Amino acid sequence: MFIDIHAHIQDRILVERLENVIKNAELVNVKKIICSSYDLSSSEEAIKISKEYQNVYATVGIHPENCEEYDSEVEKKLIELCNFNKVVAVGEIGLDYHYSKENKELQKQVFINQIIMANKLSLPIVIHSRDAIGDTMQIIREYKKYLNNGVIFHCFNESEEILKEILAMGFYVSFGGVVTFNNAKNLVDIVKKTPVDRIFTETDCPYLTPVPFRGQINEPKNINLIIKKISEIKNIDLKILEKSIENNVKKIFKI
Ligand SMILES: [Zn+2]
Repeated sequence: MFIDIHAHIQDRILVERLENVIKNAELVNVKKIICSSYDLSSSEEAIKISKEYQNVYATVGIHPENCEEYDSEVEKKLIELCNFNKVVAVGEIGLDYHYSKENKELQKQVFINQIIMANKLSLPIVIHSRDAIGDTMQIIREYKKYLNNGVIFHCFNESEEILKEILAMGFYVSFGGVVTFNNAKNLVDIVKKTPVDRIFTETDCPYLTPVPFRGQINEPKNINLIIKKISEIKNIDLKILEKSIENNVKKIFKI
């Protein structure tokens, strides 16, 4: 079975033909899809979809690009949403200095608040870190005692040094379509160095469509291309990799 732990199927471009998107995934043996949220309304939408489709689960959280919307009222609502039984993580949360560097302090505070919230709710966190790995790691080190329910770095593409530290802390990384790109030499090396019991797989759809469908809209059905590529890079049997990802998902997301 294939599992997509990070899919934005509540995105307008996918939700308008959701039935078709879910069916396409089922046809290629994608058994579980975790619908990843980035603000309050996408969190509500993800839960709604998880109620409609048996194989869809949800995360709830505020992405750093939307940190301006975070306040105590919003946090209260997030906590309420997290109590729904198909919410499996707080995410995606973290730091993103790619587009906005002016609000670094606010991004950090919102990230930390959600780490503490996830800990209270006994949920794992899914981290988004873009052009901000130094500050992200600093917060992770500082708040380590709040991170006992699992930490996953989504769309991981950092140095070996960072990978080593993440693994030493007992945390996880998730790989997406970038592993299939021709210019992904560093990432291929990182995949080789990551043990299978720390790997998750994701499409991050509708973005980051894997080869050979680049240019098209991404969907969870493409997760099989990503998992196959990882099995080639690591030179391990596809079935063994699938089983390992399934076990990791059971252990961290409890599904
Ligand atoms: Zn995402």
